[in-house]
Amino acid sequence: MAKNKAETTHTPVVTDKSLEFFERYINNPSPTGFEWKGQELWLDYLKPYIDDYYVDNYGTAVGIINKDAEYKVVIEAHADEISWFVNYITNDGLIYVIRNGGSDHQIAPSKRVNIHTDKGIVKAVFGWPAIHTRQGGEKEEAPTLKNISIDCGCTSKEEVENLGIHVGCVITYEDEFMVLNNRYYVGRALDNRAGGFMIAEVARLLKENNIKLPFGLYIVNAVQEEIGLRGAEMIAHHIKPNVAIVTDVTHDTSTPMINKIVQGDLACGRGPVVSYAPAVQTNLNKLLVETAQKNNIPFQRQASSRSTGTDTDAFAYSNDGVPSALISLPLRYMHTTVEMIHKEDVDNVIRLIYECLLNIEAGQDFRYIKNR
Ligand SMILES: [Zn+2]
Repeated sequence: MAKNKAETTHTPVVTDKSLEFFERYINNPSPTGFEWKGQELWLDYLKPYIDDYYVDNYGTAVGIINKDAEYKVVIEAHADEISWFVNYITNDGLIYVIRNGGSDHQIAPSKRVNIHTDKGIVKAVFGWPAIHTRQGGEKEEAPTLKNISIDCGCTSKEEVENLGIHVGCVITYEDEFMVLNNRYYVGRALDNRAGGFMIAEVARLLKENNIKLPFGLYIVNAVQEEIGLRGAEMIAHHIKPNVAIVTDVTHDTSTPMINKIVQGDLACGRGPVVSYAPAVQTNLNKLLVETAQKNNIPFQRQASSRSTGTDTDAFAYSNDGVPSALISLPLRYMHTTVEMIHKEDVDNVIRLIYECLLNIEAGQDFRYIKNR
């Protein structure tokens, strides 16, 4: 990357002030189904850049510009963080868990966790037997939901319960945001809170550049994506948009143990990723690609069988079909506590969404076959 620096001129979009918000937003836990504190942080950051906002019963937050416009464009990300649920407390005070979203059992051992209770955060750890005491040699037992457990320093179920812990409490990791080599942002659940950050930055740019859009813009931070696109389903029905541009993360496939034949060839630092899938509306997708080309924004391509597995699908298949497209941010080590994204990719996703909005007209008809 560094040796091409002279050829590529990259002007940062993210400011010190916005980065300060991003760090605070990432460090705040936002477990699926329990996202409201993060949503409040996000709305507070967004408020200077919007005319109005809306929140629904499950916590999806929407910033609105030009609320009375008939033609509605959505830019969307999801706000929720994968986590665990307390599922079973043993008589000697250990806690077994189930997933809330696609939490990875393989990375749990030796992690420090925060258990969220009505009395506040209770600290605890995922234990794991010592290398000395494990048996099995070459065929070591791998971590699974059946053998990983949380230790909060108690010796009885009663003691655990006295801390405020009960079945159904959510558990997040305590790992926080950092910048790596001045090139990568690292943290837990950058999937997809980086998306919430980027769409908020689009709103900031629109305001700062004094752009008057000819349509209503709905900046949507949806809840409950990690358990099946649920927040997006609910809010798509409510907004009834004419167009939806969704942003989420996708896998950087250049790190070890990933098969490019299966996963494609994508890398951090090479730009936003556009997706090809039946769920992605081709005319809208062409607008994304042409906008990237016109503005010299680097981009990569990804193909998906059927749907995209992102909130794009929820919008696409809502309301008799909404033209929807996906702009993904390449990310390393998804669903670990050290998710990594490239600073320049973040800037370029923001730029691409922003420039696309400038290219959409009120009333634009994206249908493949026009009335004749
Ligand atoms: Zn995810």
